[in-house]
Amino acid sequence: MDTQTLLNYDREHLWHPYTSMEDPLPVYPVESAAGVRIRLMDGRELIDGMASWWSAIHGYSPPVLVQALQEQAVRMSHVMFGGLTHGPAVELAKLLVDMTPAGLEKVFLCDSGSVAVEVAMKMAIQYHHATGHPRRCRFLTIRSGYHGDTFHAMSVSDPQGGMHHLFAGSLPQYYFADRPECLFSHVWDGRDIASFARLIEQHHQELCAVILEPIVQGAGGMRFYHPEYLRQVRRLCDTFGVLLIVDEIATGFGRSGALFGCDHAGITPDIMCLGKAITGGTMTLAAVLATAEVGLGVSQGSPGVFMHGPTFMGNPLACHVACASIRLLLESDWQQKVGRIEQLLEEGLAPCRELAQVRDVRVLGAIGVVEMKEPVAMREIQAAFVERGVWVRPFGRLVYVMPPYCISAVDLQTLTAAIVEVVAGEGQ
Ligand SMILES: *Cc1c(COP(=O)(O)O)cnc(C)c1O
Repeated sequence: MDTQTLLNYDREHLWHPYTSMEDPLPVYPVESAAGVRIRLMDGRELIDGMASWWSAIHGYSPPVLVQALQEQAVRMSHVMFGGLTHGPAVELAKLLVDMTPAGLEKVFLCDSGSVAVEVAMKMAIQYHHATGHPRRCRFLTIRSGYHGDTFHAMSVSDPQGGMHHLFAGSLPQYYFADRPECLFSHVWDGRDIASFARLIEQHHQELCAVILEPIVQGAGGMRFYHPEYLRQVRRLCDTFGVLLIVDEIATGFGRSGALFGCDHAGITPDIMCLGKAITGGTMTLAAVLATAEVGLGVSQGSPGVFMHGPTFMGNPLACHVACASIRLLLESDWQQKVGRIEQLLEEGLAPCRELAQVRDVRVLGAIGVVEMKEPVAMREIQAAFVERGVWVRPFGRLVYVMPPYCISAVDLQTLTAAIVEVVAGEGQ
Protein backbone atom coordinates (compact mmCIF):
# COMPACT_ATOMS: atom_id res chain seq x y z
CA MET A 1 0.00 0.00 0.00
CA ASP A 2 1.45 3.41 -0.87
CA THR A 3 1.36 6.12 1.76
CA GLN A 4 -1.59 8.01 0.30
CA THR A 5 -3.74 4.87 -0.01
CA LEU A 6 -2.86 3.97 3.58
CA LEU A 7 -3.81 7.42 4.84
CA ASN A 8 -7.05 7.39 2.91
CA TYR A 9 -8.03 4.00 4.29
CA ASP A 10 -7.06 5.08 7.79
CA ARG A 11 -9.20 8.18 7.52
CA GLU A 12 -12.15 6.22 6.24
CA HIS A 13 -12.03 3.24 8.62
CA LEU A 14 -9.88 3.72 11.69
CA TRP A 15 -10.75 5.41 14.92
CA HIS A 16 -7.82 7.11 16.66
CA PRO A 17 -7.84 8.11 20.34
CA TYR A 18 -10.52 10.71 21.08
CA THR A 19 -11.28 11.51 17.45
CA SER A 20 -14.13 12.00 15.08
CA MET A 21 -14.87 9.45 12.38
CA GLU A 22 -16.29 12.26 10.28
CA ASP A 23 -13.67 14.99 10.54
CA PRO A 24 -10.51 13.60 12.13
CA LEU A 25 -7.36 15.67 12.61
CA PRO A 26 -4.49 14.60 10.33
CA VAL A 27 -2.33 11.65 11.41
CA TYR A 28 1.33 11.19 10.50
CA PRO A 29 2.27 7.81 9.00
CA VAL A 30 5.19 6.15 10.80
CA GLU A 31 7.60 3.81 9.07
CA SER A 32 9.68 2.78 12.09
CA ALA A 33 11.10 4.01 15.37
CA ALA A 34 14.53 3.55 16.93
CA GLY A 35 16.12 5.16 19.98
CA VAL A 36 14.46 8.54 20.46
CA ARG A 37 13.56 8.93 16.78
CA ILE A 38 10.24 8.29 15.07
CA ARG A 39 10.74 7.91 11.32
CA LEU A 40 7.89 9.01 9.09
CA MET A 41 7.12 7.34 5.76
CA ASP A 42 8.39 10.37 3.86
CA GLY A 43 11.80 9.89 5.48
CA ARG A 44 11.56 12.71 8.04
CA GLU A 45 12.71 11.87 11.55
CA LEU A 46 11.12 13.29 14.68
CA ILE A 47 12.75 13.51 18.10
CA ASP A 48 10.25 11.85 20.42
CA GLY A 49 9.05 13.94 23.36
CA MET A 50 6.18 11.67 24.42
CA ALA A 51 7.67 8.19 25.00
CA SER A 52 4.38 7.05 23.45
CA TRP A 53 2.37 8.27 26.44
CA TRP A 54 4.86 7.49 29.25
CA SER A 55 5.62 3.96 28.04
CA ALA A 56 8.81 3.89 25.92
CA ILE A 57 11.22 4.78 28.74
CA HIS A 58 14.21 3.17 26.98
CA GLY A 59 13.34 4.65 23.57
CA TYR A 60 12.20 2.50 20.65
CA SER A 61 13.45 -0.97 19.70
CA PRO A 62 16.24 -1.25 22.29
CA PRO A 63 18.17 -4.41 21.27
CA VAL A 64 17.73 -6.08 24.66
CA LEU A 65 13.95 -5.84 24.45
CA VAL A 66 13.80 -6.88 20.81
CA GLN A 67 15.85 -9.94 21.73
CA ALA A 68 13.59 -10.73 24.68
CA LEU A 69 10.52 -10.60 22.41
CA GLN A 70 12.17 -12.84 19.86
CA GLU A 71 13.29 -15.43 22.43
CA GLN A 72 9.89 -15.62 24.05
CA ALA A 73 7.97 -15.64 20.75
CA VAL A 74 9.89 -18.77 19.78
CA ARG A 75 9.30 -20.43 23.19
CA MET A 76 5.61 -19.49 23.52
CA SER A 77 3.73 -16.26 22.91
CA HIS A 78 0.80 -17.22 25.04
CA VAL A 79 -0.73 -19.92 27.16
CA MET A 80 -3.81 -19.58 29.33
CA PHE A 81 -3.20 -18.69 32.99
CA GLY A 82 -6.09 -20.71 34.37
CA GLY A 83 -4.52 -23.85 35.81
CA LEU A 84 -1.11 -23.15 34.22
CA THR A 85 1.86 -20.96 35.14
CA HIS A 86 5.24 -20.08 33.64
CA GLY A 87 8.63 -18.51 34.24
CA PRO A 88 7.93 -15.06 32.76
CA ALA A 89 4.91 -14.41 35.03
CA VAL A 90 6.68 -15.65 38.17
CA GLU A 91 9.88 -13.74 37.41
CA LEU A 92 7.92 -10.56 36.74
CA ALA A 93 5.97 -10.94 39.98
CA LYS A 94 9.23 -11.33 41.88
CA LEU A 95 10.75 -8.22 40.29
CA LEU A 96 7.64 -6.18 41.06
CA VAL A 97 7.33 -7.38 44.66
CA ASP A 98 11.02 -6.63 45.24
CA MET A 99 11.04 -3.14 43.71
CA THR A 100 7.72 -1.72 44.97
CA PRO A 101 7.21 -0.41 48.53
CA ALA A 102 7.56 -3.11 51.22
CA GLY A 103 4.28 -4.88 52.00
CA LEU A 104 2.95 -5.25 48.45
CA GLU A 105 3.13 -8.98 47.88
CA LYS A 106 0.21 -10.26 45.82
CA VAL A 107 0.28 -9.68 42.08
CA PHE A 108 -2.58 -9.69 39.57
CA LEU A 109 -1.47 -9.41 35.92
CA CYS A 110 -3.87 -7.93 33.38
CA ASP A 111 -4.02 -6.28 30.00
CA SER A 112 -4.04 -2.50 30.30
CA GLY A 113 -4.04 0.39 32.72
CA SER A 114 -7.80 0.90 32.72
CA VAL A 115 -8.35 -2.80 33.38
CA ALA A 116 -5.85 -2.63 36.26
CA VAL A 117 -7.94 0.18 37.77
CA GLU A 118 -11.10 -1.91 37.40
CA VAL A 119 -9.34 -4.87 39.02
CA ALA A 120 -8.07 -2.73 41.92
CA MET A 121 -11.55 -1.29 42.53
CA LYS A 122 -13.16 -4.73 42.45
CA MET A 123 -10.52 -5.98 44.88
CA ALA A 124 -11.38 -3.20 47.34
CA ILE A 125 -15.10 -3.97 47.10
CA GLN A 126 -14.54 -7.71 47.52
CA TYR A 127 -12.19 -7.14 50.45
CA HIS A 128 -14.82 -5.28 52.45
CA HIS A 129 -17.58 -7.63 51.34
CA ALA A 130 -15.63 -10.68 52.48
CA THR A 131 -14.56 -9.12 55.79
CA GLY A 132 -18.10 -8.30 56.83
CA HIS A 133 -18.63 -4.74 55.52
CA PRO A 134 -20.80 -5.17 52.43
CA ARG A 135 -22.03 -1.56 52.72
CA ARG A 136 -18.54 -0.31 52.06
CA CYS A 137 -18.63 -0.25 48.28
CA ARG A 138 -18.06 3.38 47.29
CA PHE A 139 -14.94 5.35 46.42
CA LEU A 140 -13.35 8.65 47.36
CA THR A 141 -10.86 10.37 45.08
CA ILE A 142 -9.48 13.85 44.35
CA ARG A 143 -10.34 16.26 41.56
CA SER A 144 -8.11 16.65 38.49
CA GLY A 145 -7.39 12.91 38.47
CA TYR A 146 -7.35 10.52 35.54
CA HIS A 147 -7.68 6.74 35.85
CA GLY A 148 -8.61 5.48 32.40
CA ASP A 149 -11.50 5.15 29.98
CA THR A 150 -13.48 2.13 31.17
CA PHE A 151 -16.61 2.80 33.22
CA HIS A 152 -15.38 2.58 36.78
CA ALA A 153 -12.10 4.25 35.84
CA MET A 154 -14.13 7.12 34.34
CA SER A 155 -16.25 7.34 37.48
CA VAL A 156 -13.22 8.35 39.57
CA SER A 157 -11.60 10.59 36.94
CA ASP A 158 -12.11 14.36 37.18
CA PRO A 159 -15.83 15.13 36.91
CA GLN A 160 -15.25 18.35 34.96
CA GLY A 161 -12.31 17.47 32.75
CA GLY A 162 -13.52 13.89 32.32
CA MET A 163 -16.49 12.32 30.62
CA HIS A 164 -19.01 12.38 33.45
CA HIS A 165 -21.66 14.58 31.86
CA LEU A 166 -21.73 12.41 28.76
CA PHE A 167 -22.12 9.10 30.61
CA ALA A 168 -23.87 10.48 33.68
CA GLY A 169 -26.77 8.03 33.32
CA SER A 170 -24.46 5.00 33.39
CA LEU A 171 -21.79 6.09 35.86
CA PRO A 172 -21.81 5.45 39.58
CA GLN A 173 -21.56 8.66 41.63
CA TYR A 174 -18.54 8.80 43.91
CA TYR A 175 -16.96 11.38 46.21
CA PHE A 176 -14.47 13.99 45.04
CA ALA A 177 -12.26 15.95 47.42
CA ASP A 178 -10.75 19.24 46.27
CA ARG A 179 -7.54 18.70 44.39
CA PRO A 180 -4.31 19.35 46.30
CA GLU A 181 -3.18 22.96 45.85
CA CYS A 182 0.16 22.67 47.66
CA LEU A 183 2.60 21.92 44.90
CA PHE A 184 5.54 19.54 45.08
CA SER A 185 8.30 22.00 45.93
CA HIS A 186 6.17 24.43 47.96
CA VAL A 187 5.85 24.70 51.72
CA TRP A 188 3.19 22.34 53.08
CA ASP A 189 0.00 24.01 54.25
CA GLY A 190 -2.11 21.82 56.55
CA ARG A 191 -5.34 23.31 55.19
CA ASP A 192 -4.77 21.51 51.90
CA ILE A 193 -6.05 18.21 53.30
CA ALA A 194 -9.23 19.70 54.85
CA SER A 195 -11.65 18.80 52.06
CA PHE A 196 -10.36 15.24 51.86
CA ALA A 197 -10.39 14.85 55.65
CA ARG A 198 -13.99 16.06 55.86
CA LEU A 199 -15.24 13.68 53.16
CA ILE A 200 -13.52 10.59 54.54
CA GLU A 201 -14.76 11.38 58.03
CA GLN A 202 -18.36 11.88 56.85
CA HIS A 203 -18.57 8.90 54.52
CA HIS A 204 -16.12 6.26 55.76
CA GLN A 205 -18.90 3.82 56.60
CA GLU A 206 -19.78 3.51 52.93
CA LEU A 207 -16.23 3.84 51.57
CA CYS A 208 -14.22 0.80 50.54
CA ALA A 209 -11.24 2.71 49.15
CA VAL A 210 -9.58 5.95 48.21
CA ILE A 211 -8.05 5.97 44.75
CA LEU A 212 -5.60 8.58 43.49
CA GLU A 213 -2.48 9.17 41.45
CA PRO A 214 0.52 9.64 43.74
CA ILE A 215 2.29 13.06 43.43
CA VAL A 216 1.79 13.44 39.66
CA GLN A 217 -1.74 13.99 38.37
CA GLY A 218 -1.32 13.08 34.71
CA ALA A 219 -3.96 13.43 32.01
CA GLY A 220 -6.25 15.28 34.45
CA GLY A 221 -4.02 18.35 34.46
CA MET A 222 -0.32 17.44 34.68
CA ARG A 223 0.05 18.73 38.25
CA PHE A 224 2.66 17.79 40.86
CA TYR A 225 1.45 17.93 44.46
CA HIS A 226 3.07 17.85 47.88
CA PRO A 227 4.21 14.48 49.32
CA GLU A 228 2.75 15.48 52.69
CA TYR A 229 -0.72 15.36 51.10
CA LEU A 230 -0.14 11.70 50.26
CA ARG A 231 1.15 10.94 53.78
CA GLN A 232 -1.97 12.56 55.27
CA VAL A 233 -4.18 10.52 52.93
CA ARG A 234 -2.44 7.34 54.09
CA ARG A 235 -2.92 8.32 57.73
CA LEU A 236 -6.62 9.13 57.28
CA CYS A 237 -7.26 5.89 55.37
CA ASP A 238 -5.72 3.98 58.28
CA THR A 239 -7.78 5.91 60.83
CA PHE A 240 -11.05 5.11 59.07
CA GLY A 241 -10.30 1.58 57.83
CA VAL A 242 -10.46 2.62 54.18
CA LEU A 243 -8.10 0.97 51.67
CA LEU A 244 -5.70 3.16 49.68
CA ILE A 245 -5.32 2.42 45.96
CA VAL A 246 -2.53 4.32 44.21
CA ASP A 247 -2.61 4.52 40.47
CA GLU A 248 1.07 4.48 39.45
CA ILE A 249 0.27 3.72 35.82
CA ALA A 250 1.90 6.96 34.64
CA THR A 251 4.33 7.57 37.52
CA GLY A 252 5.80 4.08 37.82
CA PHE A 253 9.35 3.13 36.80
CA GLY A 254 11.26 6.30 37.55
CA ARG A 255 9.41 8.97 35.60
CA SER A 256 8.98 11.43 38.49
CA GLY A 257 12.55 11.06 39.76
CA ALA A 258 11.65 8.33 42.26
CA LEU A 259 11.03 4.73 41.20
CA PHE A 260 7.36 5.16 42.20
CA GLY A 261 5.33 8.24 43.12
CA CYS A 262 4.72 6.70 46.56
CA ASP A 263 8.44 6.73 47.24
CA HIS A 264 8.41 10.55 47.42
CA ALA A 265 6.16 10.21 50.47
CA GLY A 266 7.58 6.96 51.85
CA ILE A 267 4.19 5.29 52.05
CA THR A 268 2.91 1.82 51.17
CA PRO A 269 -0.55 1.69 49.63
CA ASP A 270 -2.87 -1.29 50.11
CA ILE A 271 -3.21 -1.69 46.36
CA MET A 272 -1.00 -0.34 43.56
CA CYS A 273 -1.75 -0.21 39.81
CA LEU A 274 1.11 -0.36 37.31
CA GLY A 275 1.02 -0.16 33.52
CA LYS A 276 2.35 2.02 30.73
CA ALA A 277 6.18 1.75 31.13
CA ILE A 278 6.03 -1.78 32.56
CA THR A 279 7.09 -3.37 29.24
CA GLY A 280 9.26 -0.46 28.13
CA GLY A 281 6.63 0.49 25.57
CA THR A 282 6.70 -2.80 23.66
CA MET A 283 3.48 -4.60 24.65
CA THR A 284 0.30 -3.88 26.53
CA LEU A 285 0.45 -5.18 30.11
CA ALA A 286 -0.54 -4.00 33.57
CA ALA A 287 -0.24 -5.26 37.11
CA VAL A 288 -2.13 -4.78 40.35
CA LEU A 289 -0.16 -5.36 43.54
CA ALA A 290 -1.83 -5.81 46.91
CA THR A 291 -0.77 -6.39 50.48
CA ALA A 292 -1.01 -9.83 52.06
CA GLU A 293 -3.88 -8.49 54.16
CA VAL A 294 -5.90 -7.54 51.08
CA GLY A 295 -5.09 -10.91 49.52
CA LEU A 296 -6.21 -12.73 52.63
CA GLY A 297 -9.32 -10.58 53.08
CA VAL A 298 -10.53 -11.11 49.52
CA SER A 299 -10.02 -14.85 49.90
CA GLN A 300 -12.16 -15.10 53.04
CA GLY A 301 -15.90 -15.60 53.26
CA SER A 302 -17.90 -15.84 50.11
CA PRO A 303 -17.13 -16.37 47.25
CA GLY A 304 -13.58 -16.85 48.60
CA VAL A 305 -11.96 -16.14 45.25
CA PHE A 306 -11.16 -12.95 43.38
CA MET A 307 -13.68 -12.58 40.57
CA HIS A 308 -11.55 -11.58 37.61
CA GLY A 309 -9.56 -13.51 34.99
CA PRO A 310 -8.84 -12.06 31.55
CA THR A 311 -8.11 -14.31 28.57
CA PHE A 312 -4.62 -12.89 28.14
CA MET A 313 -3.83 -12.82 31.86
CA GLY A 314 -0.10 -13.16 32.49
CA ASN A 315 0.69 -13.17 28.76
CA PRO A 316 4.20 -14.72 28.61
CA LEU A 317 5.44 -12.50 25.77
CA ALA A 318 4.47 -9.32 27.62
CA CYS A 319 5.77 -10.64 30.97
CA HIS A 320 9.12 -11.71 29.54
CA VAL A 321 9.75 -8.37 27.83
CA ALA A 322 8.59 -6.59 31.03
CA CYS A 323 11.26 -8.49 32.99
CA ALA A 324 13.88 -7.45 30.43
CA SER A 325 12.73 -3.82 30.56
CA ILE A 326 12.74 -3.66 34.36
CA ARG A 327 16.20 -5.25 34.56
CA LEU A 328 17.45 -2.78 31.95
CA LEU A 329 16.06 0.07 34.05
CA LEU A 330 17.41 -1.16 37.38
CA GLU A 331 20.86 -1.89 35.96
CA SER A 332 21.06 1.59 34.41
CA ASP A 333 21.85 4.86 36.15
CA TRP A 334 18.22 5.91 35.64
CA GLN A 335 18.23 8.34 38.56
CA GLN A 336 21.09 10.27 37.06
CA LYS A 337 19.46 10.24 33.62
CA VAL A 338 16.12 11.45 34.95
CA GLY A 339 17.89 14.09 37.07
CA ARG A 340 19.79 15.35 34.04
CA ILE A 341 16.58 15.52 31.99
CA GLU A 342 14.91 17.44 34.83
CA GLN A 343 17.69 20.02 34.84
CA LEU A 344 17.69 20.40 31.03
CA LEU A 345 13.89 20.70 30.94
CA GLU A 346 14.05 23.42 33.61
CA GLU A 347 16.66 25.35 31.63
CA GLY A 348 15.17 24.71 28.21
CA LEU A 349 11.56 25.57 29.07
CA ALA A 350 12.40 28.58 31.28
CA PRO A 351 11.99 31.14 28.42
CA CYS A 352 8.29 30.11 28.23
CA ARG A 353 7.77 31.71 31.64
CA GLU A 354 8.24 35.12 30.01
CA LEU A 355 5.43 34.61 27.48
CA ALA A 356 2.09 36.32 28.03
CA GLN A 357 0.15 33.31 26.69
CA VAL A 358 1.74 30.94 29.24
CA ARG A 359 0.13 30.42 32.65
CA ASP A 360 2.75 28.15 34.23
CA VAL A 361 5.86 26.10 33.51
CA ARG A 362 6.62 23.13 35.74
CA VAL A 363 9.06 20.25 35.75
CA LEU A 364 9.35 17.12 37.88
CA GLY A 365 11.76 14.31 37.02
CA ALA A 366 11.56 13.62 33.30
CA ILE A 367 8.23 15.45 32.89
CA GLY A 368 8.06 19.00 31.54
CA VAL A 369 4.82 20.98 31.31
CA VAL A 370 3.95 24.32 29.74
CA GLU A 371 0.43 25.27 30.75
CA MET A 372 -1.12 27.83 28.39
CA LYS A 373 -3.86 30.29 29.28
CA GLU A 374 -5.99 29.11 26.34
CA PRO A 375 -6.41 25.71 24.66
CA VAL A 376 -3.98 25.25 21.77
CA ALA A 377 -5.08 24.86 18.14
CA MET A 378 -4.24 21.17 17.70
CA ARG A 379 -4.01 20.92 13.93
CA GLU A 380 -1.66 23.90 13.63
CA ILE A 381 0.45 23.24 16.70
CA GLN A 382 0.95 19.59 15.77
CA ALA A 383 2.13 20.59 12.28
CA ALA A 384 4.43 23.26 13.73
CA PHE A 385 6.16 20.65 15.93
CA VAL A 386 6.55 18.17 13.07
CA GLU A 387 8.06 20.91 10.88
CA ARG A 388 10.66 21.46 13.58
CA GLY A 389 11.49 17.74 13.68
CA VAL A 390 10.00 16.92 17.08
CA TRP A 391 7.04 14.86 18.26
CA VAL A 392 5.02 16.69 20.91
CA ARG A 393 1.30 16.01 21.34
CA PRO A 394 -0.41 18.67 23.45
CA PHE A 395 -3.94 18.45 24.80
CA GLY A 396 -6.19 21.30 25.84
CA ARG A 397 -4.08 23.98 27.48
CA LEU A 398 -1.16 21.64 28.13
CA VAL A 399 1.99 21.35 26.05
CA TYR A 400 4.02 18.70 27.80
CA VAL A 401 6.85 16.23 27.26
CA MET A 402 8.09 13.08 28.93
CA PRO A 403 10.93 11.85 26.69
CA PRO A 404 12.63 8.45 26.82
CA TYR A 405 15.32 8.43 29.52
CA CYS A 406 18.06 7.84 26.93
CA ILE A 407 17.51 11.17 25.15
CA SER A 408 20.78 13.06 24.58
CA ALA A 409 21.34 16.61 25.81
CA VAL A 410 21.45 17.88 22.22
CA ASP A 411 18.13 16.23 21.28
CA LEU A 412 16.51 17.48 24.46
CA GLN A 413 17.68 21.00 23.72
CA THR A 414 16.22 20.73 20.20
CA LEU A 415 12.97 19.54 21.76
CA THR A 416 12.70 22.35 24.32
CA ALA A 417 13.80 25.00 21.78
CA ALA A 418 10.99 23.82 19.48
CA ILE A 419 8.49 24.11 22.35
CA VAL A 420 9.64 27.65 23.17
CA GLU A 421 9.33 28.70 19.52
CA VAL A 422 5.97 27.05 18.88
CA VAL A 423 4.46 28.27 22.15
CA ALA A 424 5.71 31.80 21.41
CA GLY A 425 3.99 31.54 18.00
CA GLU A 426 0.69 30.57 19.67
CA GLY A 427 0.34 34.13 20.94
CA GLN A 428 0.25 35.65 17.44
C1 LIG B 1 -2.96 6.00 31.08
C2 LIG B 1 -3.47 5.91 32.44
C3 LIG B 1 -4.48 4.98 32.77
C4 LIG B 1 -5.15 4.09 31.75
O1 LIG B 1 -4.26 3.20 31.17
P1 LIG B 1 -4.62 2.51 29.76
O2 LIG B 1 -3.52 1.55 29.53
O3 LIG B 1 -4.65 3.65 28.76
O4 LIG B 1 -5.95 1.87 29.90
C5 LIG B 1 -4.89 4.92 34.09
N1 LIG B 1 -4.35 5.71 35.03
C6 LIG B 1 -3.38 6.60 34.75
C7 LIG B 1 -2.80 7.43 35.84
C8 LIG B 1 -2.92 6.74 33.44
O5 LIG B 1 -1.97 7.65 33.17
